[in-house]
Amino acid sequence: MNDIREPAEPRVSGAFDFEEEMRGLRYRMVREQIESRGIRDPRVLEAMRSVPRHLFVPEELTWESYDDNPLPIGEGQTISQPYMVAWMTELLRLQGGEKVLEVGTGSGYQAAILARLAREVWSVEKQEGLAEAARERLRRLGFDNVRVVVGDGSRGLPEHAPYDAVIVTAGSPSIPQPLLEQLSEGGRLVIPVGPSSLQTLNLVVREGGEFRREEKGGCVFVPLVGKYGWRWGRRYT
Ligand code: SAH
Repeated sequence: MNDIREPAEPRVSGAFDFEEEMRGLRYRMVREQIESRGIRDPRVLEAMRSVPRHLFVPEELTWESYDDNPLPIGEGQTISQPYMVAWMTELLRLQGGEKVLEVGTGSGYQAAILARLAREVWSVEKQEGLAEAARERLRRLGFDNVRVVVGDGSRGLPEHAPYDAVIVTAGSPSIPQPLLEQLSEGGRLVIPVGPSSLQTLNLVVREGGEFRREEKGGCVFVPLVGKYGWRWGRRYT
């Protein structure tokens, strides 16, 4: 047998450390894009500092992964801008014990942030390839309280309802009725609503059998395509 061993990796002080570099970019992202725009929830800020966003984008976009914009993730879909992820998450006011539904898994990044802040996350993605990749990535990174399900999330996920929080990360022409029905008492729903060119972020809170709705501001998402979203084959305008 050949007994030649690889020499130990030399540890030169000041040598380039990739993960350290990414961590630096991530902390700067939180300071300059998120705290500076008024996100205050310390748990949300901590989650945004801890989840390695660069592992949720295609490899060739590694160095752009902490930039202040959405990025393509294949299949015509995008990973949302970091600030948008933080803003929507803050609106859910998660304390740690919740069951959460996400519609639009995409890369799985938003699901990972939710997994840090809640007890249990169900995430529905209609495109099988994206769902499979996100499931594998989340498993590898140890997010074992997230389940990714393939299906039309505009119908919600009635099998596991009710949810304390529902987040839709695709734009819908209106608020899908099943998502309201699947909210628990006191539950919160965050969803972009409006034409495909520009939507308004809506927050709905279920209070004593009533739904209180607030409009929070403008946003742009890829379309929610499904029975209670945009219909296949129709123009998204
Ligand atoms: N939250 C994602 C970004 C989502 S992009 C992330 O963190 O990366 C929007 C996603 O919604 C796309 O992946 C798209 O395929 C998915 N989508 C669109 N309509 C859907 C539907 N009816 N049900 C489930 N997923 C849907």
